[in-house]
Amino acid sequence: MDAGRDGGTDAREAALRQAYGHALDWLASLSGRRVPARASVEEIVRALGAELPAGPSTPADVVDLLATACEPGLTAFPSGRFYGFVVGGTEPAALAADWLVSAWDQNCVMRAVSPSYAAAEDIAGAWLLDLLGLPGDSAVGFTTGATMANFTCLAAGRDAVLRRAGVNVARDGLAGGPGVRVLAGRDRHMAIDLALRYLGLGEPELVPADDQGRIDPVALRRALAAGGHRPTIVVLQAGDIHSGAFDPFAETIRAARDADAWVHVDGAFGLWAAASPAYAHLTAGCAEADSWATDAHKTLNVPYDCGLAVVRDPFALRAAMGLRGDYLIQDAQGDPVDKVPELSRRGRAFTVWAALRSLGRSGVADLVERLCRHARAFAAGIAGIEGASVLNDVVFTQVCAAFGDDERTGRVLARVLDDGTAWISGSTWHGRRVMRISVSNWSTTDEDVTRALDAIRRACASA
Ligand SMILES: *Cc1c(COP(=O)(O)O)cnc(C)c1O
Repeated sequence: MDAGRDGGTDAREAALRQAYGHALDWLASLSGRRVPARASVEEIVRALGAELPAGPSTPADVVDLLATACEPGLTAFPSGRFYGFVVGGTEPAALAADWLVSAWDQNCVMRAVSPSYAAAEDIAGAWLLDLLGLPGDSAVGFTTGATMANFTCLAAGRDAVLRRAGVNVARDGLAGGPGVRVLAGRDRHMAIDLALRYLGLGEPELVPADDQGRIDPVALRRALAAGGHRPTIVVLQAGDIHSGAFDPFAETIRAARDADAWVHVDGAFGLWAAASPAYAHLTAGCAEADSWATDAHKTLNVPYDCGLAVVRDPFALRAAMGLRGDYLIQDAQGDPVDKVPELSRRGRAFTVWAALRSLGRSGVADLVERLCRHARAFAAGIAGIEGASVLNDVVFTQVCAAFGDDERTGRVLARVLDDGTAWISGSTWHGRRVMRISVSNWSTTDEDVTRALDAIRRACASA
């Protein structure tokens, strides 16, 4: 069989049609289906078949088997009633664009090799800086997620503060240098610790935070003063995963500047507050930092995987991530590859461009405001349940609640998951077992929230 044209073309078209049909079936099932998966890993392994086939199969049959065997073991992450972790759905234009990304199969390393990708990355990057209120000449790298975006930004920061101390990390490494002090709020996301581990910087020094998780600016200033003149990075947060709280940026960034520190902001989902006139005040002062990490696969609702590393000084990012690795190269534009840790990679900016082009400025603001409105509806609904209490100030998209003591909260959580109407995760916040609700999906409706609240009420009645 000539796989290039004739039979191969037909087989490919048949496989794509299979995938299209199954994708539409899956999406159509979301409004009615239980959110948790129905089948176990073992059951899916049996359905897929663990044995490597001796020979080829028709692509359409393979796609059909995959879709049919996997359906029971899929969690409805893109459902409007999934409120675990911080999980966005898939905005329609971005989902469709993502199919094209796979069909086009561009390797998005260099401007000259995929001019269309470079154009989409330039445009999407500029739009993001505008929407997020960040300095317009910052460099924007498209990573797999916020963990790698934090890593990328902190690598730029590490190398920059050491360069100011006369150390060339790219050439000489970290050994023998003065080391880097990293200060972070007590309630930073664990992705920061992971990124610091990749960077050889060890655990951060923790600065006290208030009951909502906001770093204490007075304590930060004191800690900075106690450190002498060592190269220093301060990590701030836009959006605490439990409370949704934002650090007080103006005061903390002033303190960090006075200490000549690099300031990085982890804003995986919270940075998007800046795109809404109603919530932008939460990020006031944030644009004075040196670098910012955020996700497009959370609040913006593009498919996995897509994070954004933004660095004010394009040379600092290029020095850390550029293939040629030399900050003296005077062409700040560089290639897409010079802003991220990977070489070969898929065209992530195409999906970001599609989401932003589809939503427009007002659509992004509406999206953020809608998520926040639903979070407030959850808080109001839960506050009305006997024995329940909302533990955080609901300033953004996150709600934490308890239903009496830890045991009862655990029982309520287990019953909500058994019920299956919604997916809501538990957590431990400041030593207490909590129900944690994150509203991050563009498609969540008022009715979804009502149905989820009814499920919580049912769980409480039997717990
Ligand atoms: C989700 C999240 C991260 C990690 O992002 P990934 O995209 O999962 O790598 C980091 N920080 C915060 C505040 C987050 O919410």
